[in-house]
Amino acid sequence: MQKYFFLTRVNVKFPGNTYTLFYTPKGVLPYSKDRRILYNPSYLCFMHLAETSLTKRDIRKLKPDELKKFFVEHGDKPFRAIQVDEWLWKKSAKSFDQMTNLSVATRELLKEHFAINHVHVDKMQRSTDGTIKNAVILHDGLIVESVLIPAEKRITACVSSQVGCSLACKFCATAKLKRQRNLSADEIYDQVVAIKEQAELFFNRPLTNIVFMGMGEPLLNYANVTAAIEKVTSPKGLGMAMKRITVSTVGVAKMIIKMADDGVKFNLAVSLHAALDKTRSSIMPINDSNPLSELADALRYWYHKTKRKVTYEYVVWKGINDSEEHALALLKFCKVIPSKVNLIEYNPIGDEEFQQADDKVLNMYMDLLEKNGITTRIRKSRGKDIDAACGQLANKN
Ligand code: SAH
Repeated sequence: MQKYFFLTRVNVKFPGNTYTLFYTPKGVLPYSKDRRILYNPSYLCFMHLAETSLTKRDIRKLKPDELKKFFVEHGDKPFRAIQVDEWLWKKSAKSFDQMTNLSVATRELLKEHFAINHVHVDKMQRSTDGTIKNAVILHDGLIVESVLIPAEKRITACVSSQVGCSLACKFCATAKLKRQRNLSADEIYDQVVAIKEQAELFFNRPLTNIVFMGMGEPLLNYANVTAAIEKVTSPKGLGMAMKRITVSTVGVAKMIIKMADDGVKFNLAVSLHAALDKTRSSIMPINDSNPLSELADALRYWYHKTKRKVTYEYVVWKGINDSEEHALALLKFCKVIPSKVNLIEYNPIGDEEFQQADDKVLNMYMDLLEKNGITTRIRKSRGKDIDAACGQLANKN
């Protein structure tokens, strides 16, 4: 059985500084440009090498009972499984050697049978506004992106749910990458862990919020997304509050109904962008098979079951949805169930067809919605200079 280590050298770019991180089996050594070692113990811990394997079973795929059985079969106590579980999730261990309250013999036994297929931050880029974009390597070598967005009171992790995306929204860079596979629950969890560690290391602050607004459509990977959220919120995982988590969807009606039936407790955001079918279908092909009437019915069901508001994400583009007719249609749609609106700034992806509407038009939308009691915010983008803003994630790192 072959055991191998992923990268040996990684460049980390920050304004004014480039760090090269050298991976070793014991951890990682950061060097500055002049190759002087930047000794920082937290770096060693943060970048601890993830030991991955395609041949050994990933220990995090075992059910708790299977791990207990494994220990009993190897003459150990079932209690070991609880200790290992704590290392794997609560302490986010990336190697068996980190499990220091286990004997060396137990650690060797685990190494012999299992791997921890933790994701691996390959490259970090830092925007002038503090936003960090990560290229995250999965155990099979595929790459997704995740983003840390610092704000005055929050640090938000924006995570991916799929490698690529199948939805083909015309204004989104991720749509240009074809969908390759769903992320597993562990891979989603690991993206959150990596950003939590970056928040502590670079900002000395805790991670406060998570948004599923990275690559992919979370409701087309529902089981794994909800399993990851379970772990993130569990006291045995990261213990974060459900109300700090937002799942953003293109609006897959049947999945919104399922979420309502499941009684999920996280927040729902719908990328609406147009409340007239003709326009919405022209920019978001999913609207052909999932028209606004079906979306509205699903949202009514959601509200009936959960009594929770929805947030609509909406970009206003020149010549596409910048007329009063579109604004009135949005207002009408906002009355389907209690809702809020985020008017998102458009992040260009090099397509002339889409141009951000003028401020005058945004204000027209804002006045109309606010006058009718709909809370509306204009959301400025973050991390544009490093292609980390909404809709710009396309593995251009
Ligand atoms: N598939 C999910 C989540 C990924 S996209 C969804 O559709 O909601 C996250 C958000 O970024 C969505 O609201 C999406 O419509 C928006 N978005 C995509 N491309 C964009 C762009 N170029 N500029 C601004 N927002 C964009």
